[in-house]
Amino acid sequence: MLKIKKELIGEIKRQGEKGYPYEICGFLLGNADYRTDTRTAVEVYQVENKNRERAVDRFEIDPKDYLKVERYAEEKGMEIIGIYHTHPDHPDRPSQTDLTFAQPDMSYIILSVKNGKASDWSSWILKGSGFVQEKVELI
Ligand SMILES: [Zn+2]
Repeated sequence: MLKIKKELIGEIKRQGEKGYPYEICGFLLGNADYRTDTRTAVEVYQVENKNRERAVDRFEIDPKDYLKVERYAEEKGMEIIGIYHTHPDHPDRPSQTDLTFAQPDMSYIILSVKNGKASDWSSWILKGSGFVQEKVELI
């Protein structure tokens, strides 16, 4: 399950509305307890969507940004526990592309942004060869 500070959801919604009609993306930072399969997010870190040709329905993270954020998290005693991105005018369900690039033990928050307004959101985790929706607790 994912535990996340309530204000971070507000922050992701603001970023998603600002970036509309393009997909925005970023990292969830915090700590993971692999024993109980619980990730706790205490900070979000937006990075640039590197996919310019299809930014309306694809996102791509620069490996350099990944390293930069990883270092930043480490310095603050945290780790990357997930990735968030938006689906402009599409439901908050993972796409085939999302599945292709998904890594295990990470929470994937997807926020649907409809007509520029933040709408439904959910968190997903890779189990076997597919995504399952995970329980979210606001803290
Ligand atoms: Zn997606």
